[in-house]
Amino acid sequence: MRGVTFIGNSNVELRDYDDPIPGPRDVILEIKASGMCGTDLKGYRRPHNGKDFYIAGHEPCGIVVEVGKHVSETEARIDDRVMVHHYNGCGSCKHCIEGWSQLCDAGPEVYGSGQGHGAHAKFMRVAAHTLVPLRSELSYTTGAAISCGTGTAFGALKRLGVEGDETIAVFGMGPVGLSIAQFGSKMGARVIAIETSPERRSLAKAKGANYVIDPLTNDPVEAIFDITHGQGAHKSIETAGVQAARSASVKSVCKWGTACFVAGGGQFNFEVGPDLTFRQVSLIGHWTFSKTGQADCARFVAERKIDVDSLFTHRWRLDQAEKAYSTLDQQNTGKGVFIL
Ligand SMILES: [Zn+2]
Ligand SMILES: [Zn+2]
Repeated sequence: MRGVTFIGNSNVELRDYDDPIPGPRDVILEIKASGMCGTDLKGYRRPHNGKDFYIAGHEPCGIVVEVGKHVSETEARIDDRVMVHHYNGCGSCKHCIEGWSQLCDAGPEVYGSGQGHGAHAKFMRVAAHTLVPLRSELSYTTGAAISCGTGTAFGALKRLGVEGDETIAVFGMGPVGLSIAQFGSKMGARVIAIETSPERRSLAKAKGANYVIDPLTNDPVEAIFDITHGQGAHKSIETAGVQAARSASVKSVCKWGTACFVAGGGQFNFEVGPDLTFRQVSLIGHWTFSKTGQADCARFVAERKIDVDSLFTHRWRLDQAEKAYSTLDQQNTGKGVFIL
């Protein structure tokens, strides 16, 4: 089979790989949809290490086509529609037992990141314990989104305990920010979206943001204090990994407010006293979601009939991978997905 491979410095190649064979506790998936996530840009842009090639893609969704000999019928059966919690941990440490295998004490294998092959290919081998059922009402593309970006949006909102009478400020309207706008408004919150790209600002409006702010023409902190009658947002979420946005996201919450960072890249400097301590502000770092959190997100989407598929502005074939990633790299579109 052929798989989408980052060969370094923003170059992509479809390389040949052997079809995967399941280990005793693995299953083989036939991939139906494989989402593209902002995190993929790190692997895409960096120089190649010169030795290990891997198949990219950490938002897998498809059907089970082969099961290992020690996989029970309750874990997986042929033709099951599934998503993947894309971190394979040891299965026995405290964090794995709690469903947070990305925090595994033994160090998880992250699919599609260089530690394990990902989903931008016809087939993918995963540990059976990473599977999360895909309900029949949900499409494969929705399942792919929930497997990272959209699941992360739900995870951050739940971590923050967002309530229906609150105002949340969301910095960055990439696929994660757009999902936060969509879910946040469905949870009843008032959503203020901050984004530099005009295309993404109009997507944010369409996803339910009550206000959109262009931080290049309007100071976002002042605008958020205006909208909230001088109080500040109850909560903020920063998805862009940009210093200016992080700083504004902390300054724009109210006294006793909470700011949450979901983007992993870059650095952050701020003034501890005025920005945090003297306003009783809480600062949270949040990474994706647990395996049960992924299932909870799928349930919420199905029960509330949330149109996650409308996040996708670009659908690609594997042989269009080069164009797909150069488009993602412009960071002014909705979400992209490979359809197999
Ligand atoms: Zn573990
Ligand atoms: Zn991701």
